[in-house]
Amino acid sequence: MLTENLNNNQATILEIVRMSTEDGPGIRTTVFLKGCTLNCSWCHNPESISIKPQVCWVGSRCIGCKTCIEVCKENALTLTEAGMWIDRSRCTGCGDCAAECPGTAMELMGKIWQIDNLVDEVNKDRAYFETSGGGITISGGEPAMQAGFAGAFLKSLREKGLHTALDTCGHCSRDALNQTLHYAAMVLFDLKLIDPKTHKKFTGHDNKRILDNLLYVADYIRSHVYPNALWIRTPMIPGATAVFENIAGIGQFVAKNLSDVVDRWELCAFNNLCRDKYLRLDQKWAFHHTELLTKEDMDVLTEEAKSSGVNPEIVFPTGSTRLQPEEMKQEIGDGL
Ligand code: SF4
Ligand code: SF4
Repeated sequence: MLTENLNNNQATILEIVRMSTEDGPGIRTTVFLKGCTLNCSWCHNPESISIKPQVCWVGSRCIGCKTCIEVCKENALTLTEAGMWIDRSRCTGCGDCAAECPGTAMELMGKIWQIDNLVDEVNKDRAYFETSGGGITISGGEPAMQAGFAGAFLKSLREKGLHTALDTCGHCSRDALNQTLHYAAMVLFDLKLIDPKTHKKFTGHDNKRILDNLLYVADYIRSHVYPNALWIRTPMIPGATAVFENIAGIGQFVAKNLSDVVDRWELCAFNNLCRDKYLRLDQKWAFHHTELLTKEDMDVLTEEAKSSGVNPEIVFPTGSTRLQPEEMKQEIGDGL
């Protein structure tokens, strides 16, 4: 069941990332909201899945003073030989431990922001939006989990003349989508897997609602002034989404239903930079030992996408790939 929070005035924000070149046109500021409606097994932001603020412990910064244990009213912390054990069934995410920790070893992931403060914060970046053709992207998690806030935030930005983008996984109610869509100048829509059973296996849900919402977004674009652009993004996950049949199937769906509205289809290479995040959250990650794709892997997948029936000019591979031995030698040589 979807549990969307329709409060307009405040939201739990995971992170504000400045100078992003990956979340839409130009240089952007991306606001990541906490809370997601999917649970992708490869998720690169596991700290974004829960809508609640969460704490984690960074052992290398801890000086062992136990201040955090003293201030925790829920008795959720125990310092063991293996490190700080956080009893997550007790922790309320109040953040007292993080506020008092002298070593900044306790980190609070997620902070409540009031809408006016957040608008003022991102408006500070107006200079680089204007010189680069960029703007603000609202992402997650899934922004529709806090749809009332997301819509009001995008509306305020539009009223200030700023370019806005909505980054969505599409797994949300039509009501939540409608609250945000009208105020987004463009939509970045994740389309991960075309087969419903495989989608359910890797994300916890089939893709019926997602495909229905994608068709709805396309119709909305055809009949409204805004949004006026649609990018499809497919994460390239080895053994899951980076599979020929999946790429061909997504391409055929886009070619058949969306060719008049999709401006760009991004194939986003898998990365494993989130390994430590899983460890800090005491979670196992199914892709912990999965290597990056090579450039050759991405080239072959890109060719598959380009020959799937879409306009080949809209297909763009993005992200880092694994260096091959010859390239590593070259890099080491260049560094000497
Ligand atoms: S307050 Fe910070 S430095 Fe002190 S024991 Fe707790 S985590 Fe470690
Ligand atoms: S966030 Fe609050 S409840 Fe959770 S461990 Fe820290 S002090 Fe305790």
